[in-house]
Amino acid sequence: MFPSVCESARPYLRVGIWTEPSPRFCPNGHRLGAGRAMVAAMPCRRVGGHHRAHTCLACGATTYSPPAHNDCEH
Ligand SMILES: [Zn+2]
Ligand SMILES: [Zn+2]
Repeated sequence: MFPSVCESARPYLRVGIWTEPSPRFCPNGHRLGAGRAMVAAMPCRRVGGHHRAHTCLACGATTYSPPAHNDCEH
């Protein structure tokens, strides 16, 4: 296992606090961060809260945190 893989596999939730890490890379490998991604919140009953949607400004790909499911209700 590579250290970077372990770090990206951290659990999304810790002890009831919204501390899930933001995605660091879009699906196409661009780095996400300040000035590199648009962040939006999408309310979701499936996850009991909302997803944060990070849209890569380089290619337009959107990453959901926590990940969206096929049976999501949006
Ligand atoms: Zn991208
Ligand atoms: Zn959802």
